[in-house]
Amino acid sequence: MLMDYEKIGLKVGLEIHQQLNTKRKLFCHCPTVLSDKVDGEVFRILRPTLSEMGEIDRAALLEMRKGKKFIYQYCKDNCCLVELDEEPPHLPSEEAIDIALEVALLMNMNIVDVSYVMRKIVIDGSNTSGFKELCF
Ligand SMILES: [Zn+2]
Repeated sequence: MLMDYEKIGLKVGLEIHQQLNTKRKLFCHCPTVLSDKVDGEVFRILRPTLSEMGEIDRAALLEMRKGKKFIYQYCKDNCCLVELDEEPPHLPSEEAIDIALEVALLMNMNIVDVSYVMRKIVIDGSNTSGFKELCF
């Protein structure tokens, strides 16, 4: 059975994740270089928060019920309070935005007029904090 995607109002988006070789990180001024040096540790118990729709994600709730505790190690040379979730994100790196726009143009994508940054809680412990850029 064929579906008429236009008739049912189907909209499909494509999200591309790519680490860029920029001078600084996307939401702070730390360099993008990695280091094995450890200057300190942060202990965290992660909890889900309400979404924009006022609901708690079921997957996040399941992760919380596992009762996991996380210890993150950081290096002062390439980590700051933004990444430790103790300071709001800085303005996004213009270099990273320029690269993203150039790639979008090369791929003949529609570029939105406005985008917003919001906090993204990753409750599986894969990151102490994170910020996501939403495009409208
Ligand atoms: Zn930083």
